[in-house]
Amino acid sequence: MDRDRLRNIQDKDQFKRNRRRHRRILLVLSVLIASVPAGLSLRETTEPRTELLLNRSEPVNAALSNADEPGVEDRPATASGEIEVKEPFYDLMKRLGAEDAEILNMAQASRKAFDLHMIKAGQAYEIRFDADGSPARFEYEIDDQRLLILSMSSGEWSAEIETIEYQVWERVVKGVIKDSLYLSLMEACQTTALAINLADIFAWDIDFSLDLRPGDAYGILYQERWRGDRLIGPGRILAVQIINQGDTYSAVYYKDDSGQEDYYDSAGRSLQKQFLKSPLRFKYISSYFSKNRLHPILKIQRPHLGVDYAAPYGTPVRTAADGRVVYKGRDGHMGNMIKIRHNGIYSTAYGHLSRYAKGLGVGQSVKQGEIIGYVGSTGLSTGPHLHYSFYKHGKLINPLREKNPRAKSIPSSEHPKFEASARRFLDRAQPSENEKITAAIDRPGA
Ligand SMILES: [Zn+2]
Repeated sequence: MDRDRLRNIQDKDQFKRNRRRHRRILLVLSVLIASVPAGLSLRETTEPRTELLLNRSEPVNAALSNADEPGVEDRPATASGEIEVKEPFYDLMKRLGAEDAEILNMAQASRKAFDLHMIKAGQAYEIRFDADGSPARFEYEIDDQRLLILSMSSGEWSAEIETIEYQVWERVVKGVIKDSLYLSLMEACQTTALAINLADIFAWDIDFSLDLRPGDAYGILYQERWRGDRLIGPGRILAVQIINQGDTYSAVYYKDDSGQEDYYDSAGRSLQKQFLKSPLRFKYISSYFSKNRLHPILKIQRPHLGVDYAAPYGTPVRTAADGRVVYKGRDGHMGNMIKIRHNGIYSTAYGHLSRYAKGLGVGQSVKQGEIIGYVGSTGLSTGPHLHYSFYKHGKLINPLREKNPRAKSIPSSEHPKFEASARRFLDRAQPSENEKITAAIDRPGA
């Protein structure tokens, strides 16, 4: 193969990767944008995060461009919100009308407790002003646990860090999917975090982008964290039930006696599944995952983003985990290749195959350990071996480094305790066949 052709293949790979990345970004954007018309608040004090994101296109220093300062009487006694993208502390304070010297004093006072250069977009802040309109108190949530408080007393700024106290409430949301679960949850709860956490919990059982359909019903019991009357965000999901095409999928949170936390099905089986240690019986690993290796044929430095297992011609190759065949065919230097999508997170690919398993086709479901093909030397290869690629969120990673998810079931000694807790949670997360989405705060959580 000449270099141009190789470059061509590499360009194509790069193009495909970029396209996938764009698709991911588009998906996230479309979720955010599509949710805006449904922007109903749970409480008046709850500011939808999306609104802040969309306001971002406004010039940051809009207030400054009006040369006149707003009159003192116009100035609110407090200002609060979330730190904007690319708005450092200085710009924020200027926008709110603070003097340079004042901002400098605040930053200096803060330095020992927290460096105000480190404020992050999306974190909440609140500023209180004096009667004369100058800042008197600044609160900033460093993270979920710590609150920075800058306060002014007798002409001096001082800083301290407080531990944030939350009230944890439990909320149940139920509904029937109209377009997608993402949109349904955005409408009900105003957050993408819940949908993302759900997709992780069910990663091995439900492919959120392929399996869920309009008409599927769901019920979710989760914790919500509040500070006073302000919603901080969703906390832990306690139980979920999804009726997908007539099958019920359950997940329930449980912390075992050793302190290990995980999600289980109603029978106490872990929802995590493991990958096979290797997808075939091999003689030795002939090439490891490397970002930079000397290619044995091309004699140039190029990354090897997979693991090569040397094995005799015709050795059966097995799928590393349950999944669905998404590609079967020639793929440039990979020769005969099969790619399996396991869930919304993981995919694997198997290259240089001599042939495929009989009857295997794209779209077909495969069970872990099922034979999908046989070792060969098709494509760019010096001898019979399997090239094994491992994708996480569409990115090639080293399968030998990736920690296998834990997959333990509830020990029998803890079954009675688990069952009592699971029943209590799952009863409350009973899906509703009602078209209307209900989102009710239940009772203070434990
Ligand atoms: Zn290889």
